[in-house]
Amino acid sequence: MAAIFAFKCSCCGDIHEGSPCIAFRAPDHYASLSDEQKASIGKLSSDFCTITHDDGTDYFVRAVLEVPIHGIEEPFLWGIWVSLSQKSFERYYETYEAPVEGEGFFGWVCNNISVYPYASYRPADVVVQLGGQRPKVILHTGDPKDDQLVMDQTEGISVARAQELAEKAMHYG
Ligand SMILES: [Zn+2]
Repeated sequence: MAAIFAFKCSCCGDIHEGSPCIAFRAPDHYASLSDEQKASIGKLSSDFCTITHDDGTDYFVRAVLEVPIHGIEEPFLWGIWVSLSQKSFERYYETYEAPVEGEGFFGWVCNNISVYPYASYRPADVVVQLGGQRPKVILHTGDPKDDQLVMDQTEGISVARAQELAEKAMHYG
């Protein structure tokens, strides 16, 4: 039977129980705006974000990226934002209360995960989930082949690595 993830943190000394869930409150594009810009061109809720520039609007939704932990039932969860096309965003918004099983969109990951450095935006499929769960991010494999996050999502990580990542992400931003 798969176990529950728990560890004594080498940073804070606490026992952290449950598979880690590290969440970003906004896409990086929004987070990097000034307060004035946030008020004038940005819009942020728990699941939706838009930024309206003179030349168009950027659309983002909150999603989850799962990394399986070997031998553990619940995956390591990254609560991240992805950008969608206007059309996809509108479809997701319209079906938010009653998502259609199997539906998905193309998106770009819009958070820089410090423990998984990456020079650009990661392309992904964003697949809706039922039962009030946020859509799932399935990273595109392929280019580059050595992206650690893609490898971890595909192959899973050890308990030791999950602990190391959680400690870094929770205590060093
Ligand atoms: Zn800790």
